[in-house]
Amino acid sequence: MLDAFRPLGRRIKAWRRRGDALVLDPVRRVTRVALPPGDRVAAMTFDDGPTAAPPRAGGDQGLTMLLAEALESFGAAGTFNVIGSTAGNYPDRPGRPGSAYWNGLRYDHYPAFGRDREAGLEHQPDLARRLAAGGHELSNHSYRHLLFGPKPLVYWRRAWFSGSAEALADLHRLHEAIRLASGREPALARPPHYVDVTRDGWTAYDLYDWLGYTYLAASFDGGGWLPSTGSFRRDVEAMVEPLRRALDHDPDGLRGQIIFQKDGYNMSGEAPVAEALPRHLEVLHRCGYRVVTVSELLDRSPFADVEPDQPAAAAARRLVEAGFAAAYRDNTVRPDRPMTAAEAAVTMLPRQAWLEALAARTGWTLPPRLQAGWMRRTAPAPGWPGGTPGGGAPGRAPGGAAPAPGRRGSRGAYLYAQAWAFLQAVTGTAGPAGGRRQAPQPAEPVSGPLLAAWIEAWLDAAVSQGALDGAEAGRRLESARRALPAGSGPLPRGTALAALAEALAPDDTGAPARTRL
Ligand SMILES: [Zn+2]
Repeated sequence: MLDAFRPLGRRIKAWRRRGDALVLDPVRRVTRVALPPGDRVAAMTFDDGPTAAPPRAGGDQGLTMLLAEALESFGAAGTFNVIGSTAGNYPDRPGRPGSAYWNGLRYDHYPAFGRDREAGLEHQPDLARRLAAGGHELSNHSYRHLLFGPKPLVYWRRAWFSGSAEALADLHRLHEAIRLASGREPALARPPHYVDVTRDGWTAYDLYDWLGYTYLAASFDGGGWLPSTGSFRRDVEAMVEPLRRALDHDPDGLRGQIIFQKDGYNMSGEAPVAEALPRHLEVLHRCGYRVVTVSELLDRSPFADVEPDQPAAAAARRLVEAGFAAAYRDNTVRPDRPMTAAEAAVTMLPRQAWLEALAARTGWTLPPRLQAGWMRRTAPAPGWPGGTPGGGAPGRAPGGAAPAPGRRGSRGAYLYAQAWAFLQAVTGTAGPAGGRRQAPQPAEPVSGPLLAAWIEAWLDAAVSQGALDGAEAGRRLESARRALPAGSGPLPRGTALAALAEALAPDDTGAPARTRL
């Protein structure tokens, strides 16, 4: 049953991923990154812990400790994608071992049905503290490990969050627990079983946007979740072989990759990962790899398609760190593609204006401006006092429809409409582009002179709103203009991003970020 549907599931996923590639989004879904040649670095994620239970019945050491010690003995660090507790997920009944329901029919239970107190941050705070002290990273895998929404093909018996508000409250609860246990704000999150869409039509991207998370995916499967072959020994080998083969085939093959591992049992209630991990690490070590946390990997190189020393990567990184959507949802920058007018608008949409639009659309009550700690990647300069300039309703986009205020629908379409309306308001009130110039269609490429005019209007609006002083705006405009060609041909995204970074996320101040959140 499960297997019969997998190919279809894969096709649907592949189709959705292709769509992702085309949407600029403040939330990037990270599967792997592009590293400079020879830079053999990879990351590992460990899902569903922390786990005090031993890897097999009768063992006396807990799984998470074994994993942490294995990592540390190789000088490695992991990203532990933790849960809060599954103890509230009753009444429930155990499912068939080896099936997707192995740990419960209605809910997941970790480390196993009826043993919920042996795992999760709520019951094992010492393990969380121990992980943080060992240099490992904790990320948000949801408190109760409930599906964000229905997934009828594979998990038709499973319960899901009633809607986005419940999912958000659950994520927030674990966010706080991680912060308390580790002393650090989590920056990454992965939905249980990668189910993205909530019952009321929102997505993991909306939730993660609100919380300031990057969507943590993976590119290489460590295999520790698969049902047993009937022999623990063979299960360990089945985990080690694919990784060994991959590196035999190409010793550079795992550079920049995120390797998925379990901090818990496989579908047969055992944890071969406890023995497979040291061997994975040994093989990687022999090939000269360093294994780091995902945040450190992203710090080395944020994007999937451009190496960090390329100018387009540096510009996109500055914009992203300041809260602007400079990369596609699939974490690519695509510097050679022409930048469209709508894309320029999305990248120029200030973080605060977007969060306000998101709040108005979702009706979520958690006030982001009170959560300054979550917002370290939001637009520090210039902060907009609020909403669209002028404070009125967003204007009708030139050549396009006004954004619909509906609750459901495509996040990408809403983001683009909102950005288009914002840009129209900026250029209409303060710049030449909306008035004297003929505005382009959203799908048309922008030229150097047009982008320069938009940047000027944007900076003018920031000055008139009191978010930026005039001299600083002038300096930024000059730097941006220097980055732009005078010709009217289509502008490659790399060039456009370089100019936008000069204008929106300048590199030249050592001053602390200025925020109005
Ligand atoms: Zn999980």
